[in-house]
Amino acid sequence: MEELAKRFSEKGFHTAVFSSGEEAVKAVLELIGRGKTVGIGGSKTVDQLSLYDLLQAQDNRVIWHWKEKDKLKARRESLFSDFYLCSSNAVTRDGKLVNIDGTGNRAAAMMFGPKNLIFLVGKNKIVDDVEAGILRIKDQACGPNARRQNLNVPCAFTNRCADCHTKDRMCNLFLVHEYPSKGIENTYLFFIDEELGL
Ligand code: SF4
Repeated sequence: MEELAKRFSEKGFHTAVFSSGEEAVKAVLELIGRGKTVGIGGSKTVDQLSLYDLLQAQDNRVIWHWKEKDKLKARRESLFSDFYLCSSNAVTRDGKLVNIDGTGNRAAAMMFGPKNLIFLVGKNKIVDDVEAGILRIKDQACGPNARRQNLNVPCAFTNRCADCHTKDRMCNLFLVHEYPSKGIENTYLFFIDEELGL
């Protein structure tokens, strides 16, 4: 993980390695501080780390469509935040971030919009290359994700991608970060030596 962090650091990501989610949460709370606007993308990792409640308790305005009735409004507003929190669906050993999105708000925020972007990545997200990342997402992450959202897609029932053409399809957009976006002031990549997220 240290070696991987170094590889990303050489590309301009601000990296750190944490031995536990608890340590990473402490660092995120310190980094963001108080009185900021914080957007959150769809992320089981962020959910598991309870960051929505902890950031609110620290006097930040936190916008997360998972918690709002008007999800589209929240998705839009979260793009222009001081900090945006998310995970990455996969991180490759050769130094790339791989993400798949259905609606596009999370992928959009990873490219442009927020001032600062924080990726929180558990060790289970590390794969060899982009191809392995796509396979990981489709055959491991999409099934549980689809069940969580009650989506009527084949992987929800089989845990296998059938390259569906359903209206609920989640795999509409692919994003690969080779380097951090120039439109975002700081992109943080925090590795956590725990299994987190899907
Ligand atoms: S294309 Fe359809 S079946 Fe395949 S992983 Fe995506 S949502 Fe599931």
